Amino acid sequence: MGKRMHNFNAGPAALPLPVLEEIQSELLDYKGSGMSILEVSHRSKWFDEVINEAVERTKRLLGLGDDFEVLFIQGGASLQFCMIPMNLGIPGKPVEYINTGTWSTKAIKEAQVQGKNVAVIASSEDKNFSYIPREFTVNPDAAYLHFTSNNTIKGTQWTQFPDAGEVPLICDMSSDIMSRPFDPRPFGLIYAGAQKNIGPAGTALVIIRKDMLERVPEDIPTMLKYTTFSGKNSMFNTPACFVIYTISLVMKWLEETIGGLDKMEAINREKGSLLYGCIDDSDFYQGTAATDSRSLMNVTFRLPDEDLEKQFVAEALEEGLGGLKGHRSVGGCRASIYNATGIDGVSALVDFMQEFEIKNG
Ligand SMILES: *Cc1c(COP(=O)(O)O)cnc(C)c1O
Repeated sequence: MGKRMHNFNAGPAALPLPVLEEIQSELLDYKGSGMSILEVSHRSKWFDEVINEAVERTKRLLGLGDDFEVLFIQGGASLQFCMIPMNLGIPGKPVEYINTGTWSTKAIKEAQVQGKNVAVIASSEDKNFSYIPREFTVNPDAAYLHFTSNNTIKGTQWTQFPDAGEVPLICDMSSDIMSRPFDPRPFGLIYAGAQKNIGPAGTALVIIRKDMLERVPEDIPTMLKYTTFSGKNSMFNTPACFVIYTISLVMKWLEETIGGLDKMEAINREKGSLLYGCIDDSDFYQGTAATDSRSLMNVTFRLPDEDLEKQFVAEALEEGLGGLKGHRSVGGCRASIYNATGIDGVSALVDFMQEFEIKNG
């Protein structure tokens, strides 16, 4: 095997090495079935155990009570932008959104095209989405309040979630789910495209509070209804079997190797302080997010000019540090340091950044 890269890709992104090794070791004969998990029926006892384990581990890690269901729905986080207003809007009531960047903007658009009464109650667009808004008022009559917990492209993250009183929170946690513990009770629905922090591409993890299912209208297509998935343990049709299997192994790694989300958060904080410490100690690197809104998952920064940024990304790659180019819509540099990126990877990046500054600063 060649040397593995320190992978700072934004998504699909790094997976924990023990998970990849476990997949490899049981690929040809899954638990005595004589088949790979890619080949077994989704109605088999083998896959039944896999999906149940993925659900149970998710519930344990997040401390979800029996009032929550865990679903796997294809179409990524982007399909959730559409399903949420379609299923959980209430006729005559506004649906409220906070706009903190590219993904929130897309979520808002999908509610608007359905003709919903959309209220954007706060936005950080005035400063190019470089901060998390703190001042807003939630209408107590709103059907829900939607926000994005971590802004993958702009590199900002909510530290304290918005307080919406009795209005259910709905959150796109695609790029920071399982990075820290939180109180799930105010949430009506949480969703995450798997390919950032919990698995490969091909499904969204959807956590829905059971009372929200009562809102699902009859007159929408079957495959766009949450009740279709909740009634059948996400297997109304063939689910993304291999993705769900990998998610179950990532959850096992989180529980058994890392030791839960408190431990994961402590590691993520250490990684963040190493990398932001390097940026703050230098006049060469400039962080692009407001200090009090910085993301522990996606660290965005700039160098003195674009030529140096290109050179930085290219030389880093030669050193085995990949995926440092910023999103094509914003430029600059971005290091995505999700759960699977260890302290060793971040330390290697910091060493490289310091050397690069000495040579080119
Ligand atoms: C990547 C990302 C998405 C889009 O996810 P898809 O699964 O590709 O639809 C949505 N929201 C956030 C916060 C993301 O990081």
